[in-house]
Amino acid sequence: MIPFNKPYLSGKETSYIEEAVRSGKISGNGMFTQKCHAFFQERYGFGKCLLTTSCTDALEMAALLLDIKPGDEVIIPSYTFVSTALAFVRQGAVIRFIDSRPDHPGMDEDAIEEVISAKTKAIIAVHYAGVACDMDKIMSIAEKHKLWVVEDAAQAIDSFYKDRPLGGIGHLGCFSFHETKNIQCGEGGMLTINHKAFEKRAEIIWEKGTNRAEFFRGEVNKYGWVDIGSSFLPSEITAAFLWAQLEHLENIQKKRLSIWEQYYQGLKPLQDAGLVNLPLIPSYAGNNAHMFYLICKNIVQRTNLINDLKRHEINAVFHYLSLHKSPYYKEKYFGKHLAHADRYSDCLLRLPLYYELSEENISRIIGFLKKYFYGR
Ligand SMILES: *Cc1c(COP(=O)(O)O)cnc(C)c1O
Repeated sequence: MIPFNKPYLSGKETSYIEEAVRSGKISGNGMFTQKCHAFFQERYGFGKCLLTTSCTDALEMAALLLDIKPGDEVIIPSYTFVSTALAFVRQGAVIRFIDSRPDHPGMDEDAIEEVISAKTKAIIAVHYAGVACDMDKIMSIAEKHKLWVVEDAAQAIDSFYKDRPLGGIGHLGCFSFHETKNIQCGEGGMLTINHKAFEKRAEIIWEKGTNRAEFFRGEVNKYGWVDIGSSFLPSEITAAFLWAQLEHLENIQKKRLSIWEQYYQGLKPLQDAGLVNLPLIPSYAGNNAHMFYLICKNIVQRTNLINDLKRHEINAVFHYLSLHKSPYYKEKYFGKHLAHADRYSDCLLRLPLYYELSEENISRIIGFLKKYFYGR
């Protein structure tokens, strides 16, 4: 069976973990955490970076930093992962879900202004498949209405809007290092703080509402309870694992891009013949090869195709179910019909994409799909 995903390993993970263990400092914010922070700050010019135990946690930190209170409204695309909404719902926010774009599954920037009200606090820009939202449009809407922008860049490591790295444009950015993402440490994430005024409080919220980080830098001579927060920081064991991946970032990205290109070139004749749609990368967006997907005609075709692929030992999967129709939120949802989000819920199919996927298996998948679509 060709698996859908296989987490990448550079081979140095266990030796860095051993180094962390031997150093005697395995709680958070040690040497490996600081190496990771410096790497991201230097490579992408992000503001302050803080590793977290997941992207969900980074989103929760964002909700705390933005002081989201019961009744505040937050604008989120319906076609996204649960955590994008959950982090804000936990603070009592009302979610105003918006549709995906007609031409790709990312959020429809033109639908944002329709749902802005006096209670709106923030827009969460989700870069689906690592493909940038139109950030100039989103930032100018936010400025006009005095709203915060959080980028859910969970899938968007090493991806760009024009020449700017994703996660570095909104006031806050949230990344995931879950094992299904390009760079991984099992479970992990990061908050980027691009708005200076949030820097100090972010560090306090990260460290259980204490000013311990300042204390470790020798900036204060004792530390204590100064605000709300939680234990959002990962241990050095996690950070050591992540560091082993970051050293190979360029290599990983090069390989993933080459797999993505092979799929695209191999399947383009099917799109040209009007049989299926392939991913669209707008001219302002880069491609970090997080995902390769097909858009089928309808759910029946997609279900048949998934089953047929499985019979041929290829594991392909569908993706999100629109959140406005989820068992948890459907009773609370009061907006309009979101036709495109529903269409991607029904028709989008993700193909295997991981570092070790061989040329031979890529050809086999492309060959199978050609036979499938030309054959009927
Ligand atoms: C993976 C993902 C998350 C959650 O990331 P975790 O690190 O598993 O918490 C959130 N949002 C999006 C868009 C994701 O793809």
